[in-house]
Amino acid sequence: MCVVLDPGHGGKDPGAKGFFSLCEKDLTLDVVNRIKPLLEGSSIHVILTRTTDQEMHRLKRSEFAYEQQADLFVSIHANSMGSRTEISGIETFYLSRQARPQKNYFLGNICDKRHVLQVADSLLKNNNTYSRLLAQSIHNNVVHHLVRNGFSTKDRGVRQEAYCVLLRSQVPIQAPIPHMMLASLVEIGYITNEEDAACLRQSPYRQLIAEGISDGIKKFLCEKGLI
Ligand SMILES: [Zn+2]
Repeated sequence: MCVVLDPGHGGKDPGAKGFFSLCEKDLTLDVVNRIKPLLEGSSIHVILTRTTDQEMHRLKRSEFAYEQQADLFVSIHANSMGSRTEISGIETFYLSRQARPQKNYFLGNICDKRHVLQVADSLLKNNNTYSRLLAQSIHNNVVHHLVRNGFSTKDRGVRQEAYCVLLRSQVPIQAPIPHMMLASLVEIGYITNEEDAACLRQSPYRQLIAEGISDGIKKFLCEKGLI
């Protein structure tokens, strides 16, 4: 079983910036570096899209995962809401056919290629349920793990989205044989919210998030008989 973990942003792309000078690209790399040793074992091979502060285009990330024949692709991000500092919490996304594509979405580039859309559609149909279950397993384990340890981080739930990092993961344009890859994107908190940021700046809190994500992935794989 191959799991590709994707620390969002990097290099010249810092991602979101928030309270206490927190920077998304640093948080995501820190959390992914914590998840890796927890997840890795005899039956799970973990590969990272980046291991240092380097830039990588978002479409290249899932393409990389696809090239690695990954079974699971989990992208880690931290959220921001500009001046709306009251917004906080953790949310987890999975790709959905129902989600409306917005700007920067890969779908816009392929809409003139009907055969690609047909492949994407059938893959989405197959992957949708499992991607949702993966997202739910990760999300529930993170939230429950934080609550068990005395944190009352807001649970913003599991959502459908058409993020391009997820979409690309379902559309094997170059490959002749579609490889099933489930994808999920975790937003570990709003760094533009002071309470979330105060938690995220603490190493033990980031460790709890990493443990929750790792447990969620493992439980999903166990329940589905994949490990
Ligand atoms: Zn991000």
